Amino acid sequence: MPSALRIALPVPLPTLFDYLPPVSGEAAVGSRVLVPFGRGKSVGVVVAAGVEAQVGSARLKRVLRVLDDAPLLDAELMQTLAWAADYWLGAPGEAYANALPLLLREDKPLPETREPVWQLSIAGMSALDAGSRRGGSRALLQALANGPQPAADLDIALPEWRAAARRLAEAGLIERGEQSLSPTAQPALAAPALHPEQAVAVQAVAAAFDRFQPFLLDGITGSGKTEVYLALIEQALAQDKQSLLLVPEIGLAPQTVRRLRERLGVPVEVLHSNLAEGERARAWLRMRSGESKVVLGTRSAVFTPLPQAGLIIVDEEHDGAYKQQEGFRYHARDLALVRARALNVPVLLGSATPSLESLANVEAGRYQALHLRSRPGTARPPQVQIIDMRAQRLEHGLSPALLHAIGDTVARGEQALVFRNRRGYAPVLLCHSCGWHAECPRCEHPMTLHAAWRRLICHHCDHQAAVPAACPACGSNELKPQGQGTERLEEALTAQFPQTPVLRIDRETTRRRDAFEQLLANLHEDAPAILVGTQMLAKGHDLPNLTLVAIVGVDEGLLSVDFRASERLAQLVVQVAGRAGRARKPGRVLLQTHHPDHPLLRSLLAQGYAVAAKELLVERRQTGLPPHGHQVLLRAEAHQRMAVDAFLGEARAALPDTDALQIAGPMPAPMPVRAGRQRGQLLVESPSRRDLHMAVRPWSLQLAQLPSARKVRWSLDVDPVDL
Ligand code: ADP
Ligand code: ZN
Ligand code: ZN
Repeated sequence: MPSALRIALPVPLPTLFDYLPPVSGEAAVGSRVLVPFGRGKSVGVVVAAGVEAQVGSARLKRVLRVLDDAPLLDAELMQTLAWAADYWLGAPGEAYANALPLLLREDKPLPETREPVWQLSIAGMSALDAGSRRGGSRALLQALANGPQPAADLDIALPEWRAAARRLAEAGLIERGEQSLSPTAQPALAAPALHPEQAVAVQAVAAAFDRFQPFLLDGITGSGKTEVYLALIEQALAQDKQSLLLVPEIGLAPQTVRRLRERLGVPVEVLHSNLAEGERARAWLRMRSGESKVVLGTRSAVFTPLPQAGLIIVDEEHDGAYKQQEGFRYHARDLALVRARALNVPVLLGSATPSLESLANVEAGRYQALHLRSRPGTARPPQVQIIDMRAQRLEHGLSPALLHAIGDTVARGEQALVFRNRRGYAPVLLCHSCGWHAECPRCEHPMTLHAAWRRLICHHCDHQAAVPAACPACGSNELKPQGQGTERLEEALTAQFPQTPVLRIDRETTRRRDAFEQLLANLHEDAPAILVGTQMLAKGHDLPNLTLVAIVGVDEGLLSVDFRASERLAQLVVQVAGRAGRARKPGRVLLQTHHPDHPLLRSLLAQGYAVAAKELLVERRQTGLPPHGHQVLLRAEAHQRMAVDAFLGEARAALPDTDALQIAGPMPAPMPVRAGRQRGQLLVESPSRRDLHMAVRPWSLQLAQLPSARKVRWSLDVDPVDL
């Protein structure tokens, strides 16, 4: 057998591919290579060199070209990725592809890490001195007066700068330049003196620099977790080491980036999916070269190279956004742990509402818990009260007590937030005469009424339809919206409080880039206002004048069959409640429900998240559910139900017959039809993760070979979070 290179190619197949070494050039492990693949070419990553080929030399093709002089992925990343592909049962090629920014998966030279910047021309300097130009143009001239600025920074500082840049460039007042290091390094802003709990947390983590140790920083919203992160990143910087800070959403990023840059006084790289590809690749490469020391990013930033790693931080570690739900289904928090171990550095998970997984790890002694129990200064955690909705006259789903409290709040010149985790006008459009309701033909689920657009929209597949003038079943005109979405609440609150601005924040009103930040920036700090919105409102921006939070429509979460629903609801309630009373004014939280005696609500409100979470963990232990049991979910979908049943049946039969596994299914998915496809699943569980992997690893390879596999779309999900 000839000596070959084993290569990961970005295809959804459970294999690596063998090729003969290139005619010239050294293809080291971790380097990218161009290879012939199918009828075209593909860029892959060398995983092993000098291996014995699995096919005869006659069929073996040769690597066309080596793209990197030195490995692009270092030994640690290669090892971590191999581990990840094995653990999450992913296609290895897709795991490697996830780790590389798109631009680096192409057959092109690496982009320059120097970044284009905008700067004042000589004419621009005199224009600025002469005080000519107004509005956006003047703001841009002023921004550039401090020195050249990269586009990414201007996006944050002056969201509307591009139009001004065009005008000024045409007039010759500004010009493009190039700068070696992205953001201008400014003197760092002074840090506040840490309060005692913060100091304890910082000392504990700093004492673990240079070794692997997970920490859980359990601190209520506003207790100063971010200050702890900043202090630790500063300490890492002082030792010339790199820090990675993961956040669940880009929505959170702009404010945090600003805070990091102002405080650290060094360039801070930002990595998220909305970034231009060039910028993403450059940020990645600057971390790889060690030129940059700090990176802030969302899920996929967990793959950033950290050759001088000092510290990994995962903020809001409980957030579901860390789990990738398609393709390579990894969990960024869990991968952060694996990387920290490989890099021999501490990893700090922060949350006001830690996941049951992390709490179980604390109980088991694997993570060290750190607590922030108070808010700095005079800010106090808000009081939470339940409003019993039963037998109340509701005004668009809002109880009199709740409307009263909102009225009092705005009368005092303060702000109120109404939280409803459903966008649109109403979740159902019902015929009052015959009971017909508008249903998505592709999902067999009610369609949401969007009144302003006069459309019915399916929130599962985006199928759209016009709103019928009369009932299609009986011809009656009595079509009534049932239930409330944020759009309806906005309308109702505007009618109730005509003098007060009502701002709606959901996916519709924040479609544009930066729209979320801008909407909140429009809020005057000392004027009354009402915010209505979905869970986007649970975080972000500090709102010092927000003193009332009203939570409506939690009952669906209380009644859900998903075993994680209680945990999620508890987290959401606590996170949203945390928005009230962040400054000097005390906050108040009202929770409107038809189930005021529900045990989860009672323990949450009487004793807080920590106690409620402990009780949920006991339940999970009794029922053998995660984290006290382990799961792998096989999903399948096809146009024909028969194809799904046949595949899942064969898959079931292919599982080893052992007491170590519990198998549930085949059964229909929680949504049995979606976008016109029939969906089913098979759940494999075991109290032992080892037993589960031992059984499922060979099975995952077998699945691809099943004759029925070709007629369905299927995927495996290890530790699924959405059953
Ligand atoms: P969290 O990340 O836990 O929500 P932050 O770190 O954002 O909390 O802190 C909340 C507020 O308290 C911020 O305005 C922050 O500047 C302030 N703060 C945090 N720690 C201190 C401190 N030690 N002294 C003074 N102010 C602080
Ligand atoms: Zn009807
Ligand atoms: Zn649909």
